[in-house]
Amino acid sequence: MINSTLAKSLESIIGRDHVTVEPDLILDGLNPSLLIKPGSTGEVVECLRNCSEADAAVVPASFMTWLESGNPLRRADVVLSLERMARIIDYSPPDLTAVVEAGLTIGEFNAATRVENQWLPLDPPGSPTASLGAIAACASSGPLRLGFGTPRDYVIGLRLAHINGIESKSGGRVVKNVAGYDMNKLYVGSHGTLAVITELTVKLRPVAEADQTLLVTSASEDSLREIGRDLLASEAQPASVFFTKGISYGDSQAEGRSGLIARFVENEQAVKFQTNLLTRLVKSQGDAMTLNDDEANLIWRAIADCDRLSENSLRLNVPLSSTSIFLDKLLSETDRVVAADLGAGIIRVGFNAADEKVIEVIRRLRADAFASGGSLFVERAATVVRREADAWGEVGLTGALMRSIKERFDPKSLLNPGRFVSGI
Ligand SMILES: Cc1cc2nc3c(=O)[nH]c(=O)nc-3n(C[C@H](O)[C@H](O)[C@H](O)COP(=O)(O)OP(=O)(O)OC[C@H]3O[C@@H](n4cnc5c(N)ncnc54)[C@H](O)[C@@H]3O)c2cc1C
Repeated sequence: MINSTLAKSLESIIGRDHVTVEPDLILDGLNPSLLIKPGSTGEVVECLRNCSEADAAVVPASFMTWLESGNPLRRADVVLSLERMARIIDYSPPDLTAVVEAGLTIGEFNAATRVENQWLPLDPPGSPTASLGAIAACASSGPLRLGFGTPRDYVIGLRLAHINGIESKSGGRVVKNVAGYDMNKLYVGSHGTLAVITELTVKLRPVAEADQTLLVTSASEDSLREIGRDLLASEAQPASVFFTKGISYGDSQAEGRSGLIARFVENEQAVKFQTNLLTRLVKSQGDAMTLNDDEANLIWRAIADCDRLSENSLRLNVPLSSTSIFLDKLLSETDRVVAADLGAGIIRVGFNAADEKVIEVIRRLRADAFASGGSLFVERAATVVRREADAWGEVGLTGALMRSIKERFDPKSLLNPGRFVSGI
């Protein structure tokens, strides 16, 4: 039995308490029957070496909240969770940098840096309880993307454990440290298929003086979208501008209605100028409501986590010039949840339907997105749908390049096998 022998060798590395047999854990229809929780990079490296020698496929993880994502796994024998590795190793407020273990959640990290008036301005789905390792591995971003960018902009160094039992580092601890290839960019967004991220060095931003969210509602969806376009064309520099449909805003008066939501994060004066400008743009076309911090948090979390509202969720990435055409298409179907990042050209759409219908919708929308120079990613759907339709779709010549990189890093294909583009 591969697992009892392997379990014993893993126990000898990390202790019996941190190796559990999981007969009921199912991922993409597979049972990775061992769950292991190493406590240091050295232990991760040793565990990977043992798994590789036993030819066991490893699923890197943290809190295991988004493990059925991307393309379905081809094999899964061991889930390696970094949940125990959640320390801030070094934090240097004057340099605006920190070194953290990958199992730390973004919420805990930002609570610690807030004391110094600094933050990591990322708000991906699943935050604040998402781990920094997974956010980097999936390059996950949320509504703040327009104003603050993505994990690729903030990860300046990584410590990595490789499947062949070696450890490596990329980048460093100073903000401008890249000579030659920036290897961080290779690992960030590789969905745990190249290496396990054990530590990250991130750069931080100062917390702005003011952070204000406005919710605009109107009887006319067209008016909301037009106001959004006008705002983006104006001299304002919003951190987020979203058009949404079908998303509940908790107790606010706008429950369930379509809305335009904009966030401004700058100094007091600049935020005041921009909120006034938006109010002027709204004129008599709708109502603009300034939200308090709790209401704003609720709205932005609801938007980031909108994929939880439906069984299926798709993310379209389209050129800004095509956003309107795609929104027209998507909004014509009444029962859909839509969250459109008007400034970044990302439209997330959620709906419920039978698997065959979902596959057909994905193929149709993907062909349209592709024709306009965009792409479609399946954020959430049944395993059979992700297998048939492919979570990313055809990526052309890039697929061959990525396959050859995977072969170099993981020749036996043991790290998240099948999960990423082209089933690598
Ligand atoms: C409901 C929901 C919807 C989401 N939707 C999206 C989305 O649409 N787009 C998106 O980009 N992200 C999405 N995410 C992911 C999210 O932004 C975070 O990445 C995730 O929530 C982190 O959760 P976790 O720490 O439990 O990671 P896990 O669920 O444990 O892992 C998530 C993924 O990251 C890999 N991984 C985890 N840790 C490491 C590591 N240390 N090294 C290498 N690989 C690792 C795993 O193999 C897995 O592929 C979603 C998450 C949730 C819960």
